[in-house]
Amino acid sequence: MSVCLAGGEREVSITSYAVRMARKLDRKPIEISQITIERQCDNEFLKELAEPVSKVEAVVSFACGAGVQAIAERFSEKPVYAGLNTEFLGVLEEQAVWNEKCLGCGNCVLAQFGGICPVTRCAKRLLNGPCGGSTEDHCEVNPERPCAWQLIYNRLKAIGQLDRLEEIVMPKDWSTAWYSGPRKIVRKEHQV
Ligand code: SF4
Ligand code: SF4
Repeated sequence: MSVCLAGGEREVSITSYAVRMARKLDRKPIEISQITIERQCDNEFLKELAEPVSKVEAVVSFACGAGVQAIAERFSEKPVYAGLNTEFLGVLEEQAVWNEKCLGCGNCVLAQFGGICPVTRCAKRLLNGPCGGSTEDHCEVNPERPCAWQLIYNRLKAIGQLDRLEEIVMPKDWSTAWYSGPRKIVRKEHQV
């Protein structure tokens, strides 16, 4: 199922059709089987793929990067290729426009900044105020983007929490972020 206009049954069908046509025109016809499952990052759903994958030479997955890797691990004897280029964790803000909102840093500081993430949305990841380079509320690094710190100020003002800007924010603990290699979550209470 596709919720961000990428992947899903429709895109898989269109791409399969296009590849079949291209190969036919090249006089190198190819047989392509299609299947879509609920979630590729969940072993429970991957079981459905065992038989269809056993019958093909290679797999092209239209999941996010995590889903593609889940398929590659599950079917270690088959080449697995990514059909999409996974970009970010974001929000659909208007028809066909997504904006990045979270880097999954594992040590969320949103409460301090009125629900606007400076880690993701400030190009310099500043935690103690703006760099001073913004022009008309837009970022000096990318003038098409709003300055995150202007957004933080506006938001804190709107919710009556401007006094938060007087607090010095201590250096962030990045040990929970991606810099130290892949992370793992274990929820013991849900293990069986
Ligand atoms: S502080 Fe970290 S977890 Fe919270 S929104 Fe920003 S990147 Fe995501
Ligand atoms: S202009 Fe704003 S968003 Fe851009 S780097 Fe400076 S503080 Fe961050």
